[in-house]
Formats: sequence, structure tokens, C-alpha cells
Amino acid sequence: WSVIEAGLKCTQGKSVVNSISLKEGEDKFREQARLIKRYGAAVVVMAFDEQEQADSIERKVAISSRAYRILVDEIGFDPTDIIFDPNVLTVATGIEEHNAYGVGFIEAVRQLREKFPLASASGGISNVSFSFRGNKTVREAMHAAFLYHAIRAGLTLGIVNAGQLAIYEEVPKDLLELVEDVLLDRRPDATERLIAFADSVKGTGATTAKEAEAWRHGTLEERLSHALVKGIVEHLDDDLAEARTKYPTGLSIIEGPLMDGMNIVGNLFGAGKMFLPQVVKSARVMKKAVAYLLPFMELEKTEDQSSRGKVLLATVKGDVHDIGKNIVGVVLVCNNYEVIDLGVMVPVDRILDTATKEGVDIIGLSGLITPSLDEMVHVAREMERRQIRTPLLIGGATTSKLHTAVKIAPRYTSATVHVLDASRAVGVVSSLLTDKRDAFTQGVRAEYDRLREQQAARSNERALLTIEDARHHKPVFDYEPEKPPFLGVRAYEDFPLERIEPFIDWTPFFQAWELRGTYPSILDEPRAKELYDDARKLLAEIIEKRLLKARAVYGFWPANAVGDDIELYRDETRSDVIARFHTLRQQQPTTTGVNVALADFVAPFESGAVDYVGGFAVTAGIGVDELVARFQKDHDDYNSILTKALADRLAEGLAELLHKEVRTGWYAQDEALTPEELIREEYRGIRPAPGYPACPDHSEKRTLFNLLEAEELGIKLTESFAMMPAASVSGLYFGHPDAHYFSVGKIGKDQVADYQQRKDVPLAVAERWLGPSLAYEPEEELVSS
Ligand code: SAH
Repeated sequence: WSVIEAGLKCTQGKSVVNSISLKEGEDKFREQARLIKRYGAAVVVMAFDEQEQADSIERKVAISSRAYRILVDEIGFDPTDIIFDPNVLTVATGIEEHNAYGVGFIEAVRQLREKFPLASASGGISNVSFSFRGNKTVREAMHAAFLYHAIRAGLTLGIVNAGQLAIYEEVPKDLLELVEDVLLDRRPDATERLIAFADSVKGTGATTAKEAEAWRHGTLEERLSHALVKGIVEHLDDDLAEARTKYPTGLSIIEGPLMDGMNIVGNLFGAGKMFLPQVVKSARVMKKAVAYLLPFMELEKTEDQSSRGKVLLATVKGDVHDIGKNIVGVVLVCNNYEVIDLGVMVPVDRILDTATKEGVDIIGLSGLITPSLDEMVHVAREMERRQIRTPLLIGGATTSKLHTAVKIAPRYTSATVHVLDASRAVGVVSSLLTDKRDAFTQGVRAEYDRLREQQAARSNERALLTIEDARHHKPVFDYEPEKPPFLGVRAYEDFPLERIEPFIDWTPFFQAWELRGTYPSILDEPRAKELYDDARKLLAEIIEKRLLKARAVYGFWPANAVGDDIELYRDETRSDVIARFHTLRQQQPTTTGVNVALADFVAPFESGAVDYVGGFAVTAGIGVDELVARFQKDHDDYNSILTKALADRLAEGLAELLHKEVRTGWYAQDEALTPEELIREEYRGIRPAPGYPACPDHSEKRTLFNLLEAEELGIKLTESFAMMPAASVSGLYFGHPDAHYFSVGKIGKDQVADYQQRKDVPLAVAERWLGPSLAYEPEEELVSS
């Protein structure tokens, strides 16, 4: 089960949502609400009161309104942190009063959102169709239609099984009518008619090959449009050859039937009726068509086709990750924007010089690792210095609305907007380039101002322990170190890809394409299945033809904890320190009263016991550039993004495989876990990765890479300590039975000063690498490496 995020603004930066209601009276309600507020969570308010679960529109609205007033007026809740759930109840039960339940929910959502525009609305969607348990076709159609109408009424969040969701537009019209009759209570016999139909559709299967080819009999325009919407390239050359006999110029084909088809794609995507992989496939058809027509157009010598605006995209200096950025680029091109993509590791001057030279309308920055956040701040500052006024978009995995509001927007006078994902990019860009611009930027500014204020209030509240106190709260473990299988370093220069395949965790693959859900159940969703089949096909080819190469290096060293550092020794005499990892300790008060640092998972020097730690770096990205270049030559963004996503999967799979090898050779000889248990990491020991929450400082990778001589194996570090190729993973191995992942959280000035001395770097440098972990605003200007 997963929550489909459909425009919800209120949980940005928060991970906890609690549900409460007036069921047990106002006192209990207030008490729960205060607790939730204290933890900074958003709240879901169910439409229950002391008497009943509301089932009429009036009661739903009345109870929700009463709860809202208490939350806002008495408890001081931020209205954007309130989510109404006016209860989805089951329709078509045979009981007449239940017939109005569908409309009841939708209407209640509409009224509540009108009355309280800052609050959100949610519901458990599949409740509506319980009477059709066992009939997937009917239930999926009901969910799609119900969501469609509820979203139009203002629903911002819904609990649905993302793996079982039909697309509204694709529900057969006869079924849709019957379903909507029921949901919208349009006729008294609606239930009987749907039940009769339901019996007839049980167990219908896939479309036949004949049906699949039926579209070839349509008109030329219909065929081109179909090819674009469905992402089919097979008949493109034939259809375009025919188009050239019918249309006067290549340009007129592009601006006519092809743009018409792309507009359909853009609209379906904008309405949430098409998913990203599909859109990228459509773009591939468009690009191929343009490539086919280009030679003819050059002969025709016409002026440029007018686009809706020019967008410059770049992954910032020091960062190499570009899957998300590439998807955004494709989506924008699909919507008729011109995109200038400068690629990865782009220095600020190149971004801004190009922006000025090309007269772009928007600059979009992307990045995945935390040091990139700082680089983005730097770009914003440079834009201000150069008095550029182009709107600035911020996107990528570690970016957030909060970070953009607090750190980036204040440095740049013109519009600065965080874009959550590719599906939002078009909306934001079009708002910025039309006459909606002023209203839009003012709205964003107001929201960011509020976020900044809230943040300021929050950081004052957050009392940290002093680092000295935190160290008094370190956990003490009774522990007998075991010897690893060998000491020193070993490498695989060409690790067989077929051995990695079974260790692949597919769920993050779908996340990369903004498809939510868990593998394998996500494959019930046809779009996900199609994407998966394409990926497996390409993976099989990659493995068979050895198109990518995987490499790994790992090693073990005698080690001890010395304070919060971990010392590594040349040998077990411990007389010669060859490297030192610097770990960070939690300073926020914890519920367990324990404040952890990774060093706690290694025996302290003074215990007398020799302990061991390991380290590893793996890549599956050797050859990615060549393969991507091959696809790009063929205008095939779809396969080039697939390639990168697959290389990431192989690298993660190799890390999992290698970790298993390490554990079973070290302290877990008889570990026997299923692939699912492996993916859930249900084993003893951890492999924390620098840059992740337990060790947020990416620069520690330098020490690790030197120890492993990883760069000689072809895995390099950029100036921000991103690994190159991007499809690489590295980390430390801890075998301690109590070792676990945790988050260091915010740290104070005292620990930063201590850390800076231990690492022997200037304070400003340490502050730069610790960026998002700092509980305070660094006084000095951040250095730009
Ligand atoms: N199966 C996933 C695994 C990757 S994420 C995939 O294929 O993408 C899990 C890894 O992230 C862990 O093995 C560890 O290396 C790192 N990690 C997770 N939480 C961490 C934390 N709190 N601190 C440090 N590293 C962490």
C-alpha cells in the first residue's frame, strides 16, 4: 500500500502523519492534537464525533469544521498541516442509503477545501469498492473514476494500491458509464446494472495481436498520434514517408500532426493519466520523427520553429547524477519547450555564460549529493552578483522546499522555486513564463517566507546536548571481535554481471521513474510491467554482450575506536596508524537516552582488544557512457535513461552480493537469508555509506578511496566527493552485533569545532562538508572549494 501524493503541500519536510478524531470527546482530541503538534507532525482528521462516523455531507463538513476550529484556534496548528479525511464509505452494497456515499465523500471534499483552502483532504479510496471484492477489473475502474472526480473536487491525497490502478482515460467507456452511475448516484438501478456487467467481465485477458494492430487502419493523423501516445517507433518511417506526400513541408508535419499528438501526451500527463516512462517513450518517437524530417527541412530552409520558451538544465559542479534531470528535460521537450542541457559537473561560469549567450528564460539546477546543495547556493549568489534576473529552478534528490526557502532563495532577488519531481516541472515552468508569473512568484515567495519563519522558530526550540554530554551518553557494548577472512585489499576487475542479477532490488528502479509501489506487486500495474519488460530485455542484452563492466574492491584492517575516531592499523600490533575515520555523534536528546556515533561499533583502543573494520567500493558504470552515446545517436532518451537506471541497480546489487560474501566469510558463516530478507538488510552488520545519515560527511570517502586504491580501479571522486561513474557505491563494513543504521541529526558548533581539529581542516571547510547537519547558520561565508 502506498500513499499517492497528488499535490499535497503540508507534509514537506515531515515524515510523520497522525490520525485523530472527536470520537472520544474534545478533551482527548485536544490532548492528542497537542502531542502531535509538539512532534511537528501533520495531522489527519477523521470525520467521527462522539455519536457516529459521519455519513452525510452535512455531518462530514460539520464535524470536520469543528475539529478544524479547535486545531487552529485553540491548539495553534498551522492550517497547512491539517488533512481532512471525510471517510470513504462503501457503495453498491444493496442498501439504498449507501448509494449516496460516493457523491457524499466527493461533495464533502469540495466544500471543505472551499471553506478551508489551506488544509488538505485525503481518503482511503479502495473502501468505496468493497462490494466488488475479487473483481479486479471493476474495482480498478471504480478507483480510477472515484479518484478522478475526487481530485477534481479538491482531494490532495489518497490511500490507494498503486500497483492496482487503472488509468481513467483507458477504462472502457461502457464500464466507465456504469461505474460512474454508481459512484455519482446517477440512477436508481445503477448497482444492479454494474453487478450484471461485473459478472460478465470476470477473467478477461490481454488484448489479442489482431486488436493490437488495428490502429494501423486509421487515418495518417490518427496513426501518428497513436504512435506518439503509445510510444511505438516501428511504423514511423512508413507513416512519415506518407506524410511527406500529403503535407507541403517537413515543418508542417512537425507543427501539424506531430505536435497535435504531443499535445495529447502533454495533456494526459498533466492530468495524471500517463506515467513518466510512457512520456519518455513518446518523446523518443517525436525525436526520431524530427531526425527523419530534419534533412528535408534543411533543404526547405525555413526559419526556426517557435517554442514556448528556453530552459537551461545542468547538474552542478562536483555532481554526476543526471537521471532525474534527463527525465525533466524530456518532459519539457514534450511540452514544446526548448531545452539546453549542459550535462553533469557544470561549473557556475559555464551555466551563467551560456544562459546569457542563449538568452534562456529559465535556469534549472540539479544535484543528488549534499555538497551540491552548497554549490547551488553558490550559483544563486553568482546570479545575484551578475545581476541576472532569470528564474531559478532547484531539483534533485537531496534538495527540498525547505532548503530552497532557507538557503537558496534569500541569496537571489528573482524567482527561486523548488521543483519536487519531473511531473511538476511543466506546471512550474509554464507558470513562470506566462502572465501568471507575478501571482505565481508571489505565492511561492509568501510560502518560502513562512517556511523560513517556521524553521527559525523550530531551530530555537531544538536544544542540543553539548558534545561532552552526548559522549557521556554513548552506548557501551560487551563484545568480542572476530577476525575477518583476510587483511588488506582485494579487487575484482571484471565481475560477472549475471551473478549480480539475482541480487537486484527492483523497487528503487521504479522510483527513478516516479512510479510508486513495491516490486513485485507493482508489476500488476501495466505501465510498470511494460517498463520492467523493457528493462529486463536491455539487461539481458547488456549481460550477454558484456556492454557494461562491473568492478569491486574491498578490504579489512585492524582497528580501534579512539574517542569518536576510528583508527586503522598496519597490523595487529597496532603500532602504526595508516588511516583515521572521523565519526559524528548524535547531539539531539533521544528517547533511549543513548547518543550514538559509528565509532561505538568498534572496540575502544583501551579495551586492549584488536577489532577490525572493512571498506568497499563497487561500480557497474564502466561502459555506460559508450552505451548511452549509442542510444543518443539514435535519439533514444528512453534507452539511455534505462541504461543509467540499470547500471545503478547493478551497482547496488553488487554491493549487496559483496556484503553477503563478506559476512559469511567473517562472522556469519551460516547466514541463510532469502533475496527479500537481503533487500530488507535483515543481517548482522552494516555497510554505512559516507554521505548517508550515520556519516553525513562525504569527504570521508577520500580516506576510504585512498585505502582501497579505488581510483586505480576506475572509480574516481569529484571535488564534491561524488563517485564517478555515477553507478557506484562505497562504504565501510562493521561486523559488531549491535551495529545499526541511525541518523546523526543536527550537530552543534562545539562538535564541529572538535571535528575540524580532528580532521585538521579550516572551520569553514568542515562547515561546508557538514552543511545540512549543522544546527546553526555558519557565520562566515561558505567557501566555494
Ligand atoms: N537495496 C537498495 C539498497 C540501497 S540503500 C538499493 O538497491 O538501492 C541501503 C544502503 O544505504 C545501506 O546498505 C547503507 O549503505 C546505506 N545507508 C542506509 N541508511 C544509512 C545510514 N543511516 N547511514 C549510513 N548509511 C546508510
